Parts: sequence; C-alpha cells; structure tokens
Amino acid sequence: MSEKWIKTHCARFDHGGCGLEVLVKDGKLVKIRADKTDAYSEGYCCPKGLAGIDRACHPARLRQPLLRRGPRGEGEWEAIPWERALDILVSEFRSAMAGGGPESVAFCQGAPRGLEFFILLRLANLLNCPNVGAAQHVCHMPREQMAAVTCGFFPVPDYDSPTRCVLLWGSDPQRTNEEGILGVRFQKALKQGAGLIVVDPLKSGPARTADLWLQIRPGTDDLLAVGLLHVIIEEGLFDRPFVERWTTGFAELRAAVRPFDPATVSLGTGIPAERITSAARLYAKSRPAMIHWGNAVEHSANTSQTCRSLVLLMALTGNLEAPGGNVKAEAPNVMRPAELICLKQFPGRIDKLPNRTWGLIPRLLTVPNWILFHSILDASPYAVQCLYVQATNPLISCSEADKVLQALLKLDFLAVADIFMTPTAAFADLVLPAATHLEYNDIGHYGLPHGLVFARPKAVDPPGDAWPDIRILNEWGKRMGFGSRFWDTEDRILEAVLEPSGLTYGAFAAKGLLSGPRTHYSYREKGFATPSGKVELHSSLLEQWGYSPVPTVGVHAGTDERFPFLLTSRKPRFFFHSAYRQIESLRERTPRPTVMIHPDTASRLGIAAGTPVRISTVSGSVTQFAELTRDIDPEVIFADFGWWFPERADEMFAWKESNLNQLTGAGGPTDPIMGTVQLRAIPCSIEKAESVPAMKSRTP
Ligand code: SF4
Repeated sequence: MSEKWIKTHCARFDHGGCGLEVLVKDGKLVKIRADKTDAYSEGYCCPKGLAGIDRACHPARLRQPLLRRGPRGEGEWEAIPWERALDILVSEFRSAMAGGGPESVAFCQGAPRGLEFFILLRLANLLNCPNVGAAQHVCHMPREQMAAVTCGFFPVPDYDSPTRCVLLWGSDPQRTNEEGILGVRFQKALKQGAGLIVVDPLKSGPARTADLWLQIRPGTDDLLAVGLLHVIIEEGLFDRPFVERWTTGFAELRAAVRPFDPATVSLGTGIPAERITSAARLYAKSRPAMIHWGNAVEHSANTSQTCRSLVLLMALTGNLEAPGGNVKAEAPNVMRPAELICLKQFPGRIDKLPNRTWGLIPRLLTVPNWILFHSILDASPYAVQCLYVQATNPLISCSEADKVLQALLKLDFLAVADIFMTPTAAFADLVLPAATHLEYNDIGHYGLPHGLVFARPKAVDPPGDAWPDIRILNEWGKRMGFGSRFWDTEDRILEAVLEPSGLTYGAFAAKGLLSGPRTHYSYREKGFATPSGKVELHSSLLEQWGYSPVPTVGVHAGTDERFPFLLTSRKPRFFFHSAYRQIESLRERTPRPTVMIHPDTASRLGIAAGTPVRISTVSGSVTQFAELTRDIDPEVIFADFGWWFPERADEMFAWKESNLNQLTGAGGPTDPIMGTVQLRAIPCSIEKAESVPAMKSRTP
C-alpha cells in the first residue's frame, strides 16, 4: 500500500493560490487540508478548497467525450474516443475557416485558472483568429488599463510591508482568501493595527469592525472617488513634494473635482458628508496607506473613470510605490505571456477584432464576451460559425443570458470542455471532459499581476477519459498543422514556461512558488512608464484617444414607480461564479439562491424570510429566496449571481429560473472606454413569487 502527502495549490475555485496538502493512498484521493507552511495562505483554506476531493470524485464528473445525437439540448449523447473528438474539432474548425477565414471561428473562456487560458490564446493567435471572448472588461482590465495610462503599472496593495490604513473598496477578503493571497494578509494587517475604511453597500464582515464604513449607493463609486479627491486637494492633504516633482495636470484635476464637495457627493452616494470628509482625512493622513480594490468597482458603466480616480488617490497621497502603499509587483523570471500566446504570430490582430472601434478594448487580449455573442448573432462584422468554450458557462455567467442562448443556437458547431455538464454544455455538439487541478501539473497565477506563480503538481490521474485543458489544446493545435508550435506532451509546456528560471517543474514544485523582485520608489531612478515619465493626473493618452483626460462622473441609475429598487449582486461564498452547485458539501451551506432584502421593505411588500421572490428589471424576471437583513439600505436589493440547478437536468437545469443574467443587459449603458456592462445598480422591482420552484434540497 502506498501513501503520500502531496503539497500543491488550490485552483479552479477562483484564480487559486491557497497551499494544500493532499493525502493519496494507492492512487486515490483520501484527504485534503490546508498547508500551514505555505508562505501566502499560512494554513488558511476556505470550504471550496477543502471540497477539492468532493469535486474530483463526484459521480457526475464528465468522463468521456460526448457527441450530440438528438436535437440540441435534448440530452442525447454518444460517448466517443478522444481520437474521434479531436478529428471532429479539427474538421469543423477547418471547414469553417476554409469558407470564412479565421474570423469564422471563435473561442471563449472564463476566469483564467492556470496555463489553459494562455494556451487557448496561443492556438487562436496561430490560427490568426481574433475572436477570443472573455470577461476581462468586468474583471481586472479596467483597473489594469487605467493604471497603465496613469502611472504605467498595476498598483497592488503592498501587504509585504507594514501599513497604517487599508481603504477596502468593493471587496470582502474575509469571505475567502481572495486569489489565494489577499485575505490572510489583509487580516494580518488589521491585527497589526492598520486602520480600516470600507466602501460597500453591504455591512460586510470588514465593515462591522471598520473605523469607517461608507455605505455607498450601488453604482456611485465614481462620485465617491472624486469626492475624496476633492477633500484631499482642498484641505491640502496631498503629498506636495511628490505631486510637484512626479505628477502632471494637478491644476486640471483640481478644477475637475472642485464641484464635488462632500455635500454634493453625499446627495448621490447616500453617504453622510462628514463621513466622506473623515474617510478622506483618515486615508490621506495615515501614511503609508493602501487601497485594496475588488472587481465590484469594474461593474458599472463609468468603470474606467472610477478606476482612474482610485489610482489618482494613491498618487496624490504619495502611496504609489511606497512600502505599505500600492506597489509594482514584477513578474518572476518565467516565459513572458506575450511569447507563450504567440502574439507576434498574429500581425494585424487589432484590425480584425470585432470590437476594434471600441475604446481601449483592442489593447486587451480578448473580446468582451457580450460583444462576441452580439457579433455571432448579428453576423457582424463577419459570420462566426464555430465556437470552442473552455472553463466557462456563459449562459449563466455572461450578461444578457437570452442573447447568449440565441447566439449559441445560431452556431453551426459548439464544443464545450468542462468538468461537469452545464447549461451551456447541454446545448453543445461536442462536450469534452476536463480534469480538475488535482489531476494534472499546472502553474497557477501565471500572467496575473501579483508578481508570483504557484506550483500546482498533480496528486492523481484524472478519472475515465478526462483530460487537462492544456492537453486538449496541445493535441488539437498539433492536428491543426502547428506541430512545431506545440509540444510532445503538456508537461513540456510547463518546462518551456519555467525555462528562464532555470528550474525543472519538479524543482519548482519543491519550492512551491516563484516571485518577482519587490521594489519601492523605482520611479526615482526610472520615472513612470507614461508619455511624460510622471503620474498623469491629466492623462495625455486618454486625451489623445478622445476620452476625458480627467475623472468624470457618469449618469447614475435612477429608480421610478415601475422599478423602485436598485439591484446589485454578490457571488455566493461557497461556489465559484456559476460552478460547483452539484458539490453536496458546498450546496448544503448554500442550498438555494437568496436575495437580500431589508426587513422594512419586505414587510411593506408582504415578503417573509425564506419565501420566493420575483425580481424584475427591464430585461426580465427571476426567482430567488428572501433573506431579510438590516445590513443593506431599504432601497437596495442584493441578488445571488451564478445560479442554475444541476439536479434538474430534465428541465435543462432550470437555467433561467434564478439566473441573475436574465436581469442584465438589454441595451443598458456600457463603459465607453472598456465596454463594461452595467452589472450593478440596475433599477428593479420585487414581489412575492406566486409559485415556489421545485427546489430539491440535495443534489444527485
Ligand atoms: S480562498 Fe480561493 S484559493 Fe483559497 S482555498 Fe478558497 S477557493 Fe481556493
């Protein structure tokens, strides 16, 4: 009998990074626990990470490639061998491209989990296919791109150094160890005495213990940010030597934010004026101070300007590149993403993008998924016939769910690779069984801006015929005629990525992680990587591209008689986006979708706790279950994101019933620079639902 504890890192439950120890006996997963020796997670592991074995050993895992036999969505499948599955992929993509060129095929991925996202981009670029749909426009890219134009790098909170204040904006790092690294370090900073300001419409865990909780009206982050800038400038709380030496455009910024005094900002954000002033003073006077920002700031139609204002707050207070402030996290010495994805092999890529005329989007590596689905539906600017979907379930996770379905049904060929059958996969022609992170060697956090990569060595082989995504892409790429651009086996991909570090994968796995150099005040020698070499408070690049070079405030959603509430949303703690509702140990903790409603609102509408509630917007209606709480404003409704019901396969998983994305889109505003859809602050109505959906308490 062989028995071994294997050290690895969590994945596919978010970007993944918590250190895990996995007990394997005779080639079988037995136990999983947090790795107390891990440098970043320090023995923390959330319930999702601990459910890794429940996921890997789940009876509903896809184990063989499945070819559709009956009409789309009828659930009639034939199990086929991989050779045949790959032949079908090759012939469908080749025949579409023979007629319509590389623009006639497309790819789609959700959050990057490991190397698979980059190998997908590699295949697309080698094919010269511009259509890779993803969610970058609502996740990280608004922050990264606006930081790039303002100061030339993406400023991450510097938890490696002591800090005196954390301004936590649109994030709750106590619910999980966000990205495997942030939650534990946030808690440590508080224990070491850092002050805390929380910007959140919900009285979250951190908000309960914060020095200041700013209960913001959803969608008004841009207004609050310029209000804080106003106080800091008008009260002279900025770092004058830094501003004079290292910024441009102070006078223009000052003029732009002058109208936004605390009283004015209070009217729009719902935050008392004195609290806005106190927050500005606390953040500006507590040097060093950091902004820990979550992707809730990237879910509105004025996202770009919001993100820019937050970078300007870091800059004005002298916290950019300061220890304990927001710093540059240099990537470790591994292959650069641009090389791995063969970016140079696709000259003229930007001119072919379906969204080439859209703001800064052409600077991204992907197309906002909603634009891809619109372009499939409208056959504009070209017809797309084939789509390969990897590690995502856009029918649930992409805005405007009905449009997504129409687009999927319009395709000649749809292939989906996933761990479980999903509503999106159910409409596919070909479904491919993917491996979980415990079943293949991978590199985590690659290409993310945190300046490190984690080793994720495998613990066991995948069940049945499940394959790692990187193997599927590697084998497919070779069959598409790119033999010299792909590798003998997927393990060679890992060796190639690690080559600059001089480490083999085994040596990397033994180390656990690689991090890049951490520097402070590097601008004193090199300047900032902007056209002026300084932090551009007045952005020359935005001006050149035709956008406001100073922060602006957008038009905020208003309520009316028909839609008297503002809808915002949350991601349930025990799932990852739309995934894993079939895992019993997680589902028992959150058995059904809940909508948070203030008790006064509920009683006025005759809604009792735990009863079904119909939520309606101009886009559609869904049903979720009432959770009554005084932690939100009576005019705000918090719905759950990502719901479908794996136990209801005979009803197409009841994918519409509680799906938040039935409520989004429908011609709403989008950020003109990044294409971000309005996902928060949507006017809505609620009422008692007349019928209770047949909700089973246990999954199959
Ligand atoms: S916090 Fe994220 S990385 Fe850590 S165990 Fe949970 S899902 Fe995994």
